[in-house]
Order: sequence, then C-alpha cells, then structure tokens
Amino acid sequence: MKTIKLIFRKTLTSLLLFISVFVIAQNKQLPNVTILATGGTIAGAAASGTQAGYTSGQVTIDAMINAVPGITKLATIKGEQISNVGSQDMSFEIMLKLARRINELAASRAVDGIVITHGTDTMEETAYFLNLVVKTDMPVVLVGSMRPSTAVSADGPLNLYNAVAVAGDPNAKGRGVVLVMNDWIHSAQTLTKVSTTAVQTFMSPIRGLIGTSAYGVNDFYRYPDQKFGLKSEFSVEGVTKLPRVDIIYADVDMPADLIDASVERGAKGIVIAGVGNGNMPKAALDACARASKKGVVVVRSTRVATGTVGRNVECNDDELGLVASYNLNPQKSRVLLSVTLLKSRSLAEVQKIFLDY
Ligand code: ASP
Repeated sequence: MKTIKLIFRKTLTSLLLFISVFVIAQNKQLPNVTILATGGTIAGAAASGTQAGYTSGQVTIDAMINAVPGITKLATIKGEQISNVGSQDMSFEIMLKLARRINELAASRAVDGIVITHGTDTMEETAYFLNLVVKTDMPVVLVGSMRPSTAVSADGPLNLYNAVAVAGDPNAKGRGVVLVMNDWIHSAQTLTKVSTTAVQTFMSPIRGLIGTSAYGVNDFYRYPDQKFGLKSEFSVEGVTKLPRVDIIYADVDMPADLIDASVERGAKGIVIAGVGNGNMPKAALDACARASKKGVVVVRSTRVATGTVGRNVECNDDELGLVASYNLNPQKSRVLLSVTLLKSRSLAEVQKIFLDY
C-alpha cells in the first residue's frame, strides 16, 4: 500500500512539474509588445453609443487593453501613456518624444514590437515621420479607430488586437512603420486617410498593402521599396525643434502673395499642394521662384489623391529652382522637408531625397 502511495505521489509531482514547465514555456514564447498611447478616437468617449459628438483622448491605455478580450494571449503587453490628445493636436514635440522612446526601447532589446495608439486625422504624418527616424527593424505599428470606445460597434478593440498580433509577429520585421486598421496593413509610405467618418478610411493607392490581419492572423504581401528605418539618413538625436515648413493650397486664381507672406514669416521650406501634376497659376509659380532665390526650398506636391508629381513636366523646375515631390502628398512632403532641412543641402540633394524616401 505504502509503495502504491509513493508511486502515486511521485507520478503526481512529475505531472505537476511537467504542467508548470509547459505553462512557463508557453508564456516564454509570447512576444513582448509595448503599447505607447497618444490619444485619438480609439481612446475617445461619448455620452451615448450612437451620438456623433465625442471627445478624443479620454481613456487610458490600461482601460483600452482591458477592453480587448484575449489580447494578453497574443503577447506580454506593457502600456505607456505618451500623451492623450486628439491627433489634430499632435505636434512635432510629441512626435520627437515618441521617436526617442521607440529608439530607447529598441536599443534595450527588451521588446519585440511596438504599438502606438493614435488619432486617425494626422496618422499619416506621425507614421511617415517615425518611418524616417526610428533606428530599428522591429515591428512598429500604429493603430487607431474611427469610432470612439463608447460607440455601438466600436472598431478600436479589434484594431488593437490585430495591431498587437502584427507587432509580435517576426514576419513583420523589416517592413518599416506600418498602420493596422480594419484588417489592412499599410506602409507609412503609402497610407492616406480618405474618409472623414467611414471605418474603411485608410487606403494605400498605387503601391498597395503590406498585408492583412484578420482576428490576429497575419498575411504579408510585400516589403516597402523606399528608404526607411535603419537605412534612413535621418535622426532625431539632439533635435528639439524642426524648421518651419508651410503648406500652401493651390486652386483657381489663388492669391500668390500667400507664398511671399510665408517667406516673410520665416519659412525655411514651402510645400505647394498643387493642382494636377503639382501645377499652380503663373503668378504663384513666379512667387515660388522668388522664394527659391531667397534660399527657401519649394516643393511641388499635389492636392490630387493619387499619382506622382514629376520633375520638369509642365513647369521648368531646373530654371525656377523647384523640387518635385514624386510620391509624397503635401502632408508627408512637409514632414520629409522638415527633417531634410535640419541640415543645409543643395536643391539637387533635396530632390534626390524626395526620390529615395
Ligand atoms: N480627431 C480624431 C483624432 O485624430 C479622429 C480619429 O482618431 O479618428 O484624434
């Protein structure tokens, strides 16, 4: 009897040991993901589930994580609150803080991936800025939502779930900064917001998606083909402020003196949201040439949603001293020009940068 009891006890001990080793091993396999929260509609709240009015940046990161069932099975998650603003109030100051924190986390090797919760209004700018200045090839994933956390059919929780799944996925490495929303994975280089209210608001025209993520199952299609991350020459080291770059919108009979005013107010760079292939009326083009002669770098981008702005197509960039934005829309052109102008460069160098990034 004693021997049977002893055998039973030993078997039970071994079984318990095996189970705990198995559980520990399972947990060890979970990637470490840090969520850096900045605010936005994903952290927004309204008084009722069906009203249009709401306030961005009301809910903390811990509350957001707790609202997503099963998320802790995807990764070991830590949350940090960087800011809690609607992204209409995003600033280069917060963007610099974010970039530094990402670089710190990457250097510590303590995390496998990073998620940033962010409003959708200026997601393009932050994603593209980080893509230029973070020094890592680990996944850096932006996520937001179009409906506040209190809405009927809020889209934030599933978007956050998918974002964590992408951030913890080794296959997401080396693809630069991406955005995960509504099951689609966009590159920071291509994504653009196309609807003021629809859940399907982000598109990646021309180059297309990086992949998809549905209920945490990821499928990757491509790597970005332009420079970013470890291959980028831009850095935020020692940077506390970015030079002033203005965007001026072109349309029929636009007042050309807006361009002169921008120069007078101290802009170091101007981006024209041009018509068509980065065009503008003759008077505006003359003002741009005047600005260029004074050493202000003028980039011709476009207000059109898709397509490339080519050099010397309908206006003579060589003669006027202008730069073509190629694939970048005005808001991303402004980001690239701002970091470009941290160093003095020739117009030819600036043009090459717009071709490469
Ligand atoms: N205004 C909000 C923001 O950008 C909109 C959103 O997040 O969808 O923060």
